[in-house]
Amino acid sequence: MFADEFGMNEPKNFLSPDDEHQPVLEDQNHCCLCGTELVFKHTVDYATLHVQEEAECPACMIKLKPKNFLLQ
Ligand SMILES: [Zn+2]
Repeated sequence: MFADEFGMNEPKNFLSPDDEHQPVLEDQNHCCLCGTELVFKHTVDYATLHVQEEAECPACMIKLKPKNFLLQ
């Protein structure tokens, strides 16, 4: 005789998503030095499908590190 009761009442330990995570608001549109709105330049290299994003502050005349990302 086999009791048909195994495997049916096991609690499911599914992972609860961590909803506490809140992304830090990164202000990437304004100069970190003076707060002036940055001027963005995007250069697309269609040969490699890479986009280079350059940010420049017109007030400080500084250029931020260009970011490269891949077009999808
Ligand atoms: Zn600035």
